[in-house]
Amino acid sequence: MKSAAMPPVSLQDILNQIPDYDANALPVAKAQEIIAQFVVPIHAVEKLNLRQALGRVLADNIISGINVPAHDNSAMDGYALRGQDLPSAQSKRFRVAGTAFAGHAYQREIGQDECVRIMTGAVMPDGCDTVIPQELIALHDEQTIDIPTLIVRPGDNRRMKGEDLAQGKTALLKGKILKPADLGLLASLGIGEVAVQRRLRVAFFSTGDELRSLGETLDDGCVYDSNRYTLHAMLTRLGCEIIDMGVVKDDPASLEASFRNACENADVIITSGGVSAGAADYTKQMMAQIGDVAFWNIKMRPGRSMVFGKIESNGKSAYLFGLPGNPVAVMVTFYFLARHALFILMGASAPPLPVIRVNSTMAIRKRPGRTEYQRGILASQANGELGVSITGAQGSGILRSMSEANCMIVLHEEQNNVAVGDKIEVLLFDGFI
Ligand code: AMP
Ligand code: MG
Repeated sequence: MKSAAMPPVSLQDILNQIPDYDANALPVAKAQEIIAQFVVPIHAVEKLNLRQALGRVLADNIISGINVPAHDNSAMDGYALRGQDLPSAQSKRFRVAGTAFAGHAYQREIGQDECVRIMTGAVMPDGCDTVIPQELIALHDEQTIDIPTLIVRPGDNRRMKGEDLAQGKTALLKGKILKPADLGLLASLGIGEVAVQRRLRVAFFSTGDELRSLGETLDDGCVYDSNRYTLHAMLTRLGCEIIDMGVVKDDPASLEASFRNACENADVIITSGGVSAGAADYTKQMMAQIGDVAFWNIKMRPGRSMVFGKIESNGKSAYLFGLPGNPVAVMVTFYFLARHALFILMGASAPPLPVIRVNSTMAIRKRPGRTEYQRGILASQANGELGVSITGAQGSGILRSMSEANCMIVLHEEQNNVAVGDKIEVLLFDGFI
């Protein structure tokens, strides 16, 4: 018997359950919470060779089929011996019974006060549990060495079987975004192919009659469309499959066609522009007509206006992020409101962004009432401590402020002016910006 599919939860259902929900004065944390509740991960898996899997989301837990390393082995070039034979009061002479090379088994067992010359990575000979690094011994002759007292303890310089990865244990968890170290780790388990989530398909376009694409002439009163390039780059770094739909003119027919086309071909649609309170255009109108969407004024700066929800066309649906038009606002709303949702949709378990508290090296003006994301430069100060400064003018159209920044200064809703030396919160860019 087929189990009944869960009815999809509408955005309105979620909003109805949010205490003190106010679309016109929504705190950032509430917006993040609503978005995280509404998005449902996409389930589709593909198999990839290890080399193609960088940055992709692991679709299954990886259980270690073997011990890594497979045997106890030496962590140093030196001499393997029995820990119980180590000298106590004075230096002691040992007979060198043979040599153990990496990749070659050493067959003989050693006796009392004997040692085996051993290379890094060579399997520990039977009976040996300790390695003396070769620079710590005195060579007496070809067959004998002198070991001084108290230089190592029994068990030193031995790598234990399975100390990296133990057979039968979980080596990597489903949802992990594969980094270079993870690919190496999989290779160390002999795994050459992994199941990953398929890439998330994200369609995006810019709206506004004043926008010109690169290569076009810049008519009076027009600007080049930069949002498409920042979005393209941020989505690329997140590992999304990208559908760049260009600039869409502010007329109902083109907008409807673009929304429907995006919806039928992508999991997520990101637009920029046309959503601010006074916007005299059709973008919002069209979003409302074919979608289950909320129009928000978020208590943040830059940012503020944003549309979130889901759009439907011909039986297909896609999540919608209608971001503001200003270039810095696009990046900031993407980073703080869209990014986490995209990870959820990808099936990725992304760790929270790293936040640190550091001294402000300058006074920063701030009025309570909104969360401000100021662009910062984090650097070591003369006293050796970290300090943060802002990157000049912070207008939401000043993209240079983002380009010069290496971190985001987060000034919380109720926070007031910042004085030199105050501790403030800084969020390190994590390679996605
Ligand atoms: P809007 O939200 O559509 O009112 O746009 C706000 C401001 O951002 C206006 O000055 C727009 O010209 C500018 N803007 C909107 N979209 C873009 C874009 N794709 N690239 C650069 N600037 C943009
Ligand atoms: Mg506009």
